[in-house]
Amino acid sequence: MKAILLNLIELQRIDNRIFELVELRGDLPFKVQNLQENIEKLTEENSEKSSRISELESELRGITSRMEDNTIKLKHYKDQLYLVTTNKEYDALLSEIDTMKNSVIESENKIIEFEQEKTELQELVKSNELKIESSSEDLKNSKEELSKSLSETEVEEKDLTKRRKGFISKIDANYLANYEKLKEARDGIAVSPISRSSCGSCYNFLPPQSIIEIKRNNNLINCPSCGVFLFWEEEEE
Ligand SMILES: [Zn+2]
Repeated sequence: MKAILLNLIELQRIDNRIFELVELRGDLPFKVQNLQENIEKLTEENSEKSSRISELESELRGITSRMEDNTIKLKHYKDQLYLVTTNKEYDALLSEIDTMKNSVIESENKIIEFEQEKTELQELVKSNELKIESSSEDLKNSKEELSKSLSETEVEEKDLTKRRKGFISKIDANYLANYEKLKEARDGIAVSPISRSSCGSCYNFLPPQSIIEIKRNNNLINCPSCGVFLFWEEEEE
């Protein structure tokens, strides 16, 4: 039992140090990920909007050319008004002129609408491009910082991971599962030294009889309040 306790204590020490190393890197890994995702999102949006711009340009070319044709036709019909000889011909021509006029107005409105959409999209694409540029710069710097921070702790972290594997293989699966469950529930603490007659994790007072037993460091004793494994650390008190 004593051996299991000592292994659990050592495992907790290793995990505490790994936690510290991860803390040292801070939010850099998240920052890098967020920047990457943001750049991807903006790039995708720009590609979507750019293809809509191309679509609008092609529409605009079509409408403009139809409008020019109709404007010419309209002028032609107007010229013909002076040449017709019967009322019937005159009325038919007027009706044609009306239709042409409406068509030209419709085209003009469509052109205004499409030009406006195009301008808005172009502005959006441009502003996205600026954002992508500045995010890419940020990403480059954050990546450099992260890789520097990783290279500083890489050797120690590898060593810790290796030692962790060693200890895990020595600990019975049930205790290990218990340890991991506690660690998950208690913010990374599954094994804690007692401190001033209290649990070092939840700070609740422990009965004197438990303290005597814990000080022997012979048995696995759980805190009655929070459940972590307790042990006695000489230099702590
Ligand atoms: Zn406790």
